[in-house]
Amino acid sequence: MYKIVDIFYSLQSEDTYVGVPSIFVRFYGCNLGCYFCDDEKHRGNFDVLTQEELLEKLKNFTCKQVVITGGEPTIYNLNELIGFLQDEGYYVCVESNGYELGNVKKADWITYSPKNWDEIESEGFSEYKFIVATVSEVDKILALQSDKPIYIQPENHFDSANIVNVKYCIDFVKAHPHLKLSVQLHKYLGVE
Ligand code: SF4
Repeated sequence: MYKIVDIFYSLQSEDTYVGVPSIFVRFYGCNLGCYFCDDEKHRGNFDVLTQEELLEKLKNFTCKQVVITGGEPTIYNLNELIGFLQDEGYYVCVESNGYELGNVKKADWITYSPKNWDEIESEGFSEYKFIVATVSEVDKILALQSDKPIYIQPENHFDSANIVNVKYCIDFVKAHPHLKLSVQLHKYLGVE
């Protein structure tokens, strides 16, 4: 049984799969409480669904790409669910703060967005995403040695871009071209 706050169809607006139509499955809860988090999105009411019930809801959409997000989905062991969806033909992506990456290791693609930059994992995921503001300790990002994509995403307002942070991130990426910019495209397009 899975605690699901929301299921919606939109475009992936961040990182490697930006622009790809995707079904988002938002799980309830998180192990952290970041000050910039829009808590309502993952601490609101939730449904408790079996994997079969979840599949039926996914079938409402003409899409085979699923993004499991939260909150923090790795507070649950989701490998059985991920395998079930893959057997049904879905490509399963996960967005995680790295709480327990082993709980989603069957996923096809894992975006790891560390929140404690003093303890950054190096394996068990596909790409990094750092949420960056002008005051961020970006030297810790520059110290990373990795072949994985490293995305820099401006810390934005809940429903719009923070232009100061966006400009800072653009300059940061241009100065360090092994990095890539992730812009939360949905906040520019006005989609969910
Ligand atoms: S890790 Fe993500 S979901 Fe959890 S509190 Fe921080 S921003 Fe919110």
